[in-house]
Order: sequence, then C-alpha cells, then structure tokens
Amino acid sequence: MASAFTHAFSALALGSVLQSGKLGKGLLLTGMASAAMPDLDVMAFWLDIPYEHPLGHRGFTHSILFAALWALGLGYLFWRKSSRELLTRWRIWLFLFLCTASHGVLDAMTTGGRGVGFFIPLNNDRYFLPWRFIRVSPIRASAFFSEYGLKVMANEIITVWVPCMIVMIIAWIFRQVRQA
Ligand SMILES: [Zn+2]
Repeated sequence: MASAFTHAFSALALGSVLQSGKLGKGLLLTGMASAAMPDLDVMAFWLDIPYEHPLGHRGFTHSILFAALWALGLGYLFWRKSSRELLTRWRIWLFLFLCTASHGVLDAMTTGGRGVGFFIPLNNDRYFLPWRFIRVSPIRASAFFSEYGLKVMANEIITVWVPCMIVMIIAWIFRQVRQA
C-alpha cells in the first residue's frame, strides 16, 4: 500500500482534471475517501484470510470491478441530489471510479507486498506495473509514525505528490486559458 494520505491526494488531482469541485465539495471528499478505502481489506489479516485469497489484502477491493461497483453505489447517492443530466451523472461515476481504481494503480507501483488483483473475480493473479518506485507503506499505523514511516512519506511526496501538483497546476492553467 501507499499511505492513505497519498491515495487521497491523488484523488484531489483527479478532481482538478475532471473539475469535480464544480459538482460539490461532498463529492470531492467522497472521492478522496474512496481512493483510500480499498485498504480496509487489511482486516483480512485479522480474519485469517490469506494474502493470496481473492478477498485478501490487495484482492477484490483493489480490483477494477470493485471500483466500478463502488462508484455506482456511491454515485447513485449523488445522482439523487444532483442534476438528472446524463453527462453530469457520467462525470460523477467516472470521478468516483477513477479515484477508487487509482488506489490499485498506485499500489502496483510500490516496492513491496504482492501485486494487485486488478481482474478479480475473473482471475486471481496479482500484478505490478513495470515502474515500481513508490516505497511500500507499513500496514500498522504505529509503524507509520517511525523513521521508516517518515522515509515512506518523503518518497511518496516526491513520487506522487509532486506529479499530482504538476497535474493540478496544468489543469488550473488550462481552465484559466479556456475562461479567458
Ligand atoms: Zn492498497
């Protein structure tokens, strides 16, 4: 896993590209929470579910299907409040889907653990991307607030936060140019 802060921050970058802020702060915060949420599957360790099990860590909650369903379920709540316009509904779903799916993508670029079960339940293989430069974050919160935890955070700032900030700045410039 990358840290929950980093997953949430990547959702902010997605929000700036998709201009989800226009759809309300609630949606943006939900996207940030959705980006961190898949790691609730660490509960599998306490339930004695093995890592390699489809419901184990980096299993189903990190899959593309889960992200699609999660976005559909949460999106429905926002659809009821927001415009009935199809394009708006599509953008809400897409934002929540990308936020949730981004979690697995970042995990697949980490240096530790096993790969990500992107295609569960179709196949239980675990995958990494060819680029693995994000230092894996400790699972236990206590370990996160340690010297190693600080190194992880410093690495994530360089490998994820800075690129996300660049994306946000480009998206902002793009919006200014379009409005001008
Ligand atoms: Zn994860």
